[in-house]
Amino acid sequence: MDIQERVNECLSCPNPRCETGCPVKNHICTFIKDLKNDDLDQAAKTLYEMNPFPELTSQLCDCDRQCQGHCVKGIKGVPVQIQSIERYIYDHRKRNVQPKEDNGRRIALVGAGVSCLSAAIRLREEGYQVDIYEKLNQIGGAIYSGIPDYRFDKSYLDNIQIDLENLGVHFFFHKTIGKDLVLQDLQKKYDRILLGIGAQVENTYGLEGDGCEAGLSLLYNLNVLKKQNEYKEKYHSAIVWGGGNVAMDCARSLKRILDEVTIVYRRSEEEMPASKREIAEAKKEGIQFAFLENIQSLKLDEKGKVIGAHCVRMELGEPDESGRRSPHVIEGSEYEIPCELVVCAIGQKVDFRIIQELTFGNTHLSSIENVYITGDAYLGPKTVAAAIHDGQLAAKEIMDSF
Ligand code: SF4
Ligand code: SF4
Repeated sequence: MDIQERVNECLSCPNPRCETGCPVKNHICTFIKDLKNDDLDQAAKTLYEMNPFPELTSQLCDCDRQCQGHCVKGIKGVPVQIQSIERYIYDHRKRNVQPKEDNGRRIALVGAGVSCLSAAIRLREEGYQVDIYEKLNQIGGAIYSGIPDYRFDKSYLDNIQIDLENLGVHFFFHKTIGKDLVLQDLQKKYDRILLGIGAQVENTYGLEGDGCEAGLSLLYNLNVLKKQNEYKEKYHSAIVWGGGNVAMDCARSLKRILDEVTIVYRRSEEEMPASKREIAEAKKEGIQFAFLENIQSLKLDEKGKVIGAHCVRMELGEPDESGRRSPHVIEGSEYEIPCELVVCAIGQKVDFRIIQELTFGNTHLSSIENVYITGDAYLGPKTVAAAIHDGQLAAKEIMDSF
């Protein structure tokens, strides 16, 4: 299907449902109309106005749940292929940001994840000086350290860095807040500070042992430290505990190096929060799924090494506060799965203790003067598109504060 056929599938709805499913608030119906009118320049203008990084969203959004999942045409048939239309615009028209004259105000961004990167673009556009401090040696935050190379080509991040440097953004790598960077020093040097430090605290729900790891740590070990051989030598089989996209990334990364990988999830496939595409790929790659099962504890040998997981079978009851049916343990259903590695991919949260006592309410401004929060640190772990949007909101709040 060529691009005109794809855009002609769209009904140009007066109240586009697709837009309610887009976390970056793209004017989807409008950029499709622009393309219907054969005006690619205008379509690009419409897209980049809301979304500075379509090269990321057009590859990383779970569009079946987001924009396309809300498209009216998907109710009885096939939704408009919005993600590929967005990609088409990116392929033919790149970002074209023209910064206004320097206004003399200096903003420090801490963390080079997508929320800070999108804030940086908006701030530079309006003439603010922007410095970004990042603890690793690469931009991208969770996209860089958490998303496996087989799923996303990291050279897109290099290109974004070049674009931002050309815009006048300065990057400082290997700078960790609370270690190499002191908040009070930044406060003296900059007019405002924006913290986009992610949601980095993981929970293993009390599971411990040699061979028990948290999901993001595993992904960091594989994606950043490239420890594939180490894992290959040490383990043959793994259980990944959880049902979100981090669990899928862990399982699919491990399946590339280990013989047996099983995902244990306490609800059914229908309730799984991971993207349908990821689940389908994982199945194709031979990953086993244990639905309606849960880990209760680990089985360790005398040296503390993991040799298995004690599990139970579950059944679903009434919906809980998340709207999903709540799982209950089936009495007497205990059993054991032998394995050498257990990866807990069951959620992350933010820990501001690395900075100091810091709180925030309904705005991005924190309890510390001139210090703002954005991205997962503000929203909790959410989508790439939500983080991009939040960075722009935080940038606007900062600019409005002068
Ligand atoms: S940003 Fe994501 S959700 Fe929004 S239109 Fe693009 S692919 Fe769809
Ligand atoms: S809901 Fe679907 S058909 Fe309607 S405007 Fe959005 S993409 Fe087009």
